[in-house]
Amino acid sequence: MSTHILDPNGRVVVTGAGGFIGGHLVAELHRRGHQTIRAVDYKPLDDWYQVFDHVENRVLDLRERPACDAAARDAKYIFNLAADMGGMGFIELHKAECMITVLINTHMLMAAKDAGVERFFYSSSACVYAAEKQTSPAVQPLREPDAYPAMPEDGYGWEKLFSERMCRHFTEDFGLATRVARYHNVYGPHGTYDGGREKAPAAVCRKVVQAQISGSGEIEIWGDGEQTRSFTYIDDCLEGTLRLMSSGVAEPLNVGSDQLVSINQLVNIVEDIAGVRLTRRYKLDAPKGVRGRNSDNTLVKERLGWAPSVRLEEGMRKTYEWIHDQMTTSVRRRIYV
Ligand code: NAD
Repeated sequence: MSTHILDPNGRVVVTGAGGFIGGHLVAELHRRGHQTIRAVDYKPLDDWYQVFDHVENRVLDLRERPACDAAARDAKYIFNLAADMGGMGFIELHKAECMITVLINTHMLMAAKDAGVERFFYSSSACVYAAEKQTSPAVQPLREPDAYPAMPEDGYGWEKLFSERMCRHFTEDFGLATRVARYHNVYGPHGTYDGGREKAPAAVCRKVVQAQISGSGEIEIWGDGEQTRSFTYIDDCLEGTLRLMSSGVAEPLNVGSDQLVSINQLVNIVEDIAGVRLTRRYKLDAPKGVRGRNSDNTLVKERLGWAPSVRLEEGMRKTYEWIHDQMTTSVRRRIYV
């Protein structure tokens, strides 16, 4: 396995930088000494979760090829995270919008190739895994080959799987080095916690804070709460992303925690953090996704000598504190470095 130290002087582009993971990635690249960073998103700057000085911040719609050329110009490395996405409540009801993200990935790969980019990172998802392997809460953890024969999450998962394959073929046919991570449910501060795109960890934190503010003493849970997942803290996601980008591993790798919990157990954890006990109301007809999903980390340990390690209790405490803070103070905080 050949490793490659990322050149701190080479221009690094992060797309989706106004979003949750992209914002943290820009911060981490800066902390690790990268001097020339271009952060790209199509949201107005005021809506980015984190905005940094000393970074070239660009507002571009990457569905358009000329915008991708502008994003990729003079880049050595590209982390392509931009996507129209959200939690189950979003991806089950916006399948066409999720699939249109294929324009971003197609045009970014073409632009990267033409700009002579050295390495291209693509953020895929555990949603590429075949549905039949995720029918039980006591799920067998998902190994990378389990994506085939393909029957991924409708809409969002098909787009991710297609884009993974496009990365592979750009490597085979055009020699563009690509690295692909399959993220499993990433959570942490500075992410979406309301508005319909939020994922379970942030949604549970928000609902617990709301129950406290309103004094309702109740929480609504989607499904029967026995569906299982593993959740990956943002610090682990960044470490996995940067290790994979520096590695010689061209095939997709899981970047996901293997600490399996049910949604009911996730609620227990947040209740413990908040010091409350709430009455649970189960909304059985809400979007629920697969019955069980966990990450098998055998391959990532073998290839990168690493796997996520942050305990859910620890990551959720930091996430809860941030969301609590956002919901109970009127001014949205931004970080500048
Ligand atoms: P996010 O929604 O917070 O960030 C995505 C960003 O992409 C947003 O800021 C959005 O404005 C931007 N974007 C969308 N369309 C764009 C366009 N046309 N041009 C430019 N920017 C555009 O999501 P995130 O959680 O930070 O996810 C980042 C990446 O990781 C995505 O590709 C996502 O599919 C993938 N992923 C995330 C998770 C997770 O649990 N968060 C899990 C699996 C995969």
